[in-house]
Amino acid sequence: SSIFTVVNQGPPVEVFQVNKAYNDDPSPKKVNLSVGAYRTNEGKPWVLPIVRQIKKIIAEDVTLNHEYLPMLGLDEFTEAASKFLLGNDCKSIINKQYFGVQSLSGTGALRIGAVFLKTQMNRNIVYYSNPTWENHAMLFKHSGFEKTESYRYWDNKTKSIDFQGMCQDLENAPENSVIILHACAHNPTGCDPSKDQWMALSKIIKEKKLFPFFDCAYQGFATGNLENDSWAVRYFANEGHELFCAQSFAKNFGLYNERIGNLTVITNNKEAIPILKSQFQIIVRGMYSNPPCHGARIVSTILNNSKYFEEWNSCIRIMSERITEMRKELREKLENRTKFGTWKHITDQIGMFSYTGLSADQVEILKNKYHIYMLKSGRINICGLNTNNLDYVAKAISDVI
Ligand code: PLP
Repeated sequence: SSIFTVVNQGPPVEVFQVNKAYNDDPSPKKVNLSVGAYRTNEGKPWVLPIVRQIKKIIAEDVTLNHEYLPMLGLDEFTEAASKFLLGNDCKSIINKQYFGVQSLSGTGALRIGAVFLKTQMNRNIVYYSNPTWENHAMLFKHSGFEKTESYRYWDNKTKSIDFQGMCQDLENAPENSVIILHACAHNPTGCDPSKDQWMALSKIIKEKKLFPFFDCAYQGFATGNLENDSWAVRYFANEGHELFCAQSFAKNFGLYNERIGNLTVITNNKEAIPILKSQFQIIVRGMYSNPPCHGARIVSTILNNSKYFEEWNSCIRIMSERITEMRKELREKLENRTKFGTWKHITDQIGMFSYTGLSADQVEILKNKYHIYMLKSGRINICGLNTNNLDYVAKAISDVI
């Protein structure tokens, strides 16, 4: 007998489940379009050359050690990360109305931000886009939020944003609700608001006294341009919003398993920063005490040195250009093969993901008959495509529709 018999089986997490099914599939034809990680044209993970170089420098630097970091992380990392997000000419940076908290990647930044909002600010309602990254709801629920709601975002008919619906839902959200906004390269749809739309959203969020919580998992990776990719956050900051932004360095540095992220906090009251920090310290202390150092060293070494930064920037451009090229080719091949419908959305969408519009049934056939793996929402990771499998994938998709 065991005391653990009271425990029930939990539901699987789809993206990990699909990835495992792909790994277990012996077919040589198999294609993995599920997990959100970059792949080279050879279908391999890519350790960025600059990251490899910095790891060697760190390994050989005898002045470094494995002492604990402070609870809020490595100062030179959090400073650089917040400035990288906001730009040195941002009002919040110039007026020193910001600080960063090192986190366990983007997920960890969302989590400590959510716990802070719940325990210190008594926030109880969070709104996320419909659809969104599948972890948002669980993360806020586990942080104590009583209500997780969604705002309209994707219009399946037009394969673009239902902006009117989004605005209506935000206008009707109760005061003090936390609003999760994808800073760029919306996951899963690949559709971002235009600058004019961001301006309108900023106005609604301010007027309705909502709290903007940006989720920035793809800065630089989306368009290859760092400023473009954090334009919305910079705009909100310059408009005087107090806000949180969860930053992930998993995708843009290829440091998925180093779990390196930052929560940028922007406040209008500079004097309150030590108080806010003291509460974040308590949250971190009670959760994991202090963060790991390796990823923070790698990212801060690169962000704080203009030569390394340039090298890293060229890696970013290589990744984003390959994604853009794959989008173009997939669209072309699908339009050549299928006589009806349009595949324009494939090239309109940006970032790693494309919301193809394929149904759950079609996704199932693609898996069973063609060994092509994707999420049942029809979301594909464009990075899973390469010049060797494009024809095969385009043919399979045109067969199932
Ligand atoms: N937010 C979004 C929208 C994401 O797509 C992801 C990862 O896929 C994350 C946050 C968190 O990623 P990580 O915790 O690996 O940095």
